[in-house]
Formats: sequence, C-alpha cells, structure tokens
Amino acid sequence: MKRYRKLNKGPIVIASHNPGKITEISVLLKNYSTKVIPANTIDIIEPEETGLTFSENAAIKALTAAEASGLPALADDSGLSVSALNGKPGVRSARWAGPERDFTVAMKKLLKLIEGKGDRAAHFTCALCLAWPDRHQEIFLGNVFGTLTSKLIGDKGFGYDAIFQPEGFNITFAEMDPAKKHSISHRAVAFEKLASACLR
Ligand code: IMP
Repeated sequence: MKRYRKLNKGPIVIASHNPGKITEISVLLKNYSTKVIPANTIDIIEPEETGLTFSENAAIKALTAAEASGLPALADDSGLSVSALNGKPGVRSARWAGPERDFTVAMKKLLKLIEGKGDRAAHFTCALCLAWPDRHQEIFLGNVFGTLTSKLIGDKGFGYDAIFQPEGFNITFAEMDPAKKHSISHRAVAFEKLASACLR
C-alpha cells in the first residue's frame, strides 16, 4: 500500500490566485486547524501552466509555491471537459475566458459550439497537488459528472458554474447553496482523498 507523506500542523500556502478556489479550499481545510496563506498575499508569482494534464499543472503550481515560500503548498488545477467537444475546454478552461477572464463569454461560446448536439454530458475535474519545499508531492483527483444547460442560470459560484447541472440535481452549481456545492464538487472529492491520505 502506498505510504503518503503527512502534512504537519502549521501554515500552508494555497497556490492559487483565483478567489473562488481559495474560498472553497479554505472551507475544506477549516477542520484541520491549518493556517491558510493565499499565494497572492506573500507575493508568489503565478507560474505558466505548461502541463498537458490537470495533474501536471497542479504540480507546477504547488512546487513553485512550496519552493518560493519554504512552506508546504496546495494547488488546484481544474476545469470542465465537454463530451461533445472531445474533452475541451479541459486544461484550457481558464484560457477560454481570455485575458479578461470573462466566463460569461466562455460559457456562451461553449453553448454555441454544442448547440443542436444531442450529447450535453460534461464533467469537472480537479487535481489537487500537495507539495513540500524538498519537491516531494502527492496528487489526488476528483470528478463530478453532469449535463450542460442551454443557457446561463444562477449567479453564485464562479467559472462555468452557471451552465453545469451536477447529476442528481435539476439546478446548476450557480443556483446551489455554496455549502452544498462545496460538499459535492470535484474539489471536495479530490480533497476527501487528500484528507484521508495526508491530513491528521
Ligand atoms: P485553472 O485551474 O486555474 O487553470 O482554472 C480552471 C478553470 O476551470 C477556472 O478558472 C474555472 O473556469 C474552471 N473551473 C474549475 N473549477 C470550477 C468550478 O468549481 N466551477 C466552475 N468553474 C470551474
């Protein structure tokens, strides 16, 4: 059986500049008396996401932050994969929103591309990488499956939440109570694995 490195109690850097992700990860970590330090508050630059997979990109971000801060760091790389688009936008989910990070534009573009296609299946994936300054790393993956709506619905959440209805629900992530979303999201699934492997 794989032996995971445990995270000691003490501060951890959240290697993300995305406020939506920082909020979700802080909520998930709150039972572990871990002081959460967002990367932007200690001046860690965002590395270029040159990986081809969610796991590679999460590792790039976590290792950069761990080496720069001298502290353990947790990074999330995530995105939406649409079945009718052969998995796009996938690792390029953030880039589809352009430099302005306008997800209304990205969601409308995506809906236009699948207009008239019968297949509206999609899933969110999250790779969480926990990295240490000595470059040791542990990676965990989570998915949440669902379908895409035909228009944007709801004003909560972030990113592509307004067009994604998770399986078993007839509302989008953007209509859902944030606490509920945080408990069933791809990030929650990956975090559950991380917590049982590395947190005390
Ligand atoms: P990155 O991981 O920073 O490359 O960005 C991933 C992108 O995927 C985010 O900017 C969002 O657009 C999208 N994404 C990831 N997780 C979620 C989510 O929980 N809801 C909506 N969009 C998400």
